[in-house]
Amino acid sequence: MQNQDLYDVTIIGGGPAGLYAAFYAGMREMKVKLIEGKDELGGFLQTYSDKAIWDVGGLPPMKCAKLIEHLVQQAGTFEPTVVLKQTIDTFNHLNDGVFELQTHTGESHYTRTVIIAIGRGVAEVQRLDIHSAKDYERSNLHYTIQNLDYFAGKKVLISGGGNSAVDWALELAERACSVTVVHRQDSFRAMEHNVSQMRRKAEVYTPCHIERFYGNGQRIHQVGIVSTATGETVRLDVDEVIVSHGYTSHVSNLARCGLDMHEGMLVMNQWAETSVPGIFTAGDCAMREGKVRLIAGAFNDAIVAVNSAKKFLEPAAAGMAYVSSHNELFREKNRALHNKPTSSS
Ligand SMILES: Cc1cc2nc3c(=O)[nH]c(=O)nc-3n(C[C@H](O)[C@H](O)[C@H](O)COP(=O)(O)OP(=O)(O)OC[C@H]3O[C@@H](n4cnc5c(N)ncnc54)[C@H](O)[C@@H]3O)c2cc1C
Repeated sequence: MQNQDLYDVTIIGGGPAGLYAAFYAGMREMKVKLIEGKDELGGFLQTYSDKAIWDVGGLPPMKCAKLIEHLVQQAGTFEPTVVLKQTIDTFNHLNDGVFELQTHTGESHYTRTVIIAIGRGVAEVQRLDIHSAKDYERSNLHYTIQNLDYFAGKKVLISGGGNSAVDWALELAERACSVTVVHRQDSFRAMEHNVSQMRRKAEVYTPCHIERFYGNGQRIHQVGIVSTATGETVRLDVDEVIVSHGYTSHVSNLARCGLDMHEGMLVMNQWAETSVPGIFTAGDCAMREGKVRLIAGAFNDAIVAVNSAKKFLEPAAAGMAYVSSHNELFREKNRALHNKPTSSS
């Protein structure tokens, strides 16, 4: 029955733009639903959750996983309805000013306005297409790193040639017993300085790729690599294998529903409006002159999109929410905050 409820705004995408929009729409006292295609919130940040983030205004440098935690907590302030594992593929504009959003599994959600915050689409890691790879995903074959310390004192093999592979090699060189990097091309798609540091700190095999794993079905013990130039093969002892071959992105069909696009992105104006009245957009999926493709840029878009959605529904509404210090919604919460004992009291 929940799906048949009508929402003031439905936000598609649970990355920084969508999460912040959910919070801000709560500040505007809207009835909010957030729909995320994956089984977790955080968006693209989940793919570099162990990296430190330095450039979000007012926050000390922190691991991305921590930032996700804060974003999710903040998004929950006004208790929006959150739906996971549903990818929105199409929408219909019903006669009475209601949008029907349809998921890939055929379910429908009803809403008076929409904020599309789908970033780069539903990103999935590019998995290794070799026999038995799947068997080891639960043990020592990794596609993302949650905790660098897990690799301390181990023999680690990394496959990949982009920024993430090189960054991980450098980070792990400080902790692991040994780091080996395998890349199918001689050149790396990463910052030159980092590549030369990596060549000093890790054993690098190029142009090579992983041919097969040798293990007992529970854990990989050795990796067979092959030179793409000579066909020569080598077997390397390993404790852990990390594959960093980038992402495939499922970009939703929403783009084909009559919304103006440019270079694969949704065109928005300075009010975060798309070409369809009632549908707004925020974050990396959107484009306009001067658009900032950073977490801070996603926050700004989110505020503009929510305010525009509010005005769309209630033209006489204020242009923006009251700032926190003057906002009645926070009165009780502020009291609780101020009464909370601090560590020094
Ligand atoms: C390697 C890398 C490092 C970066 N480092 C920084 C940094 O240090 N600082 C910084 O400020 N920025 C950084 N960025 C940029 C930052 O990650 C993005 O600007 C930010 O993630 C954009 O947020 P978003 O919410 O627009 O999109 P995303 O984070 O991509 O989130 C979109 C969400 O929408 C979901 N979704 C997609 N399609 C659908 C659908 N049809 N239905 C339902 N859900 C859907 C996705 O699953 C995803 O969860 C980095 C980017 C990269 C690639």
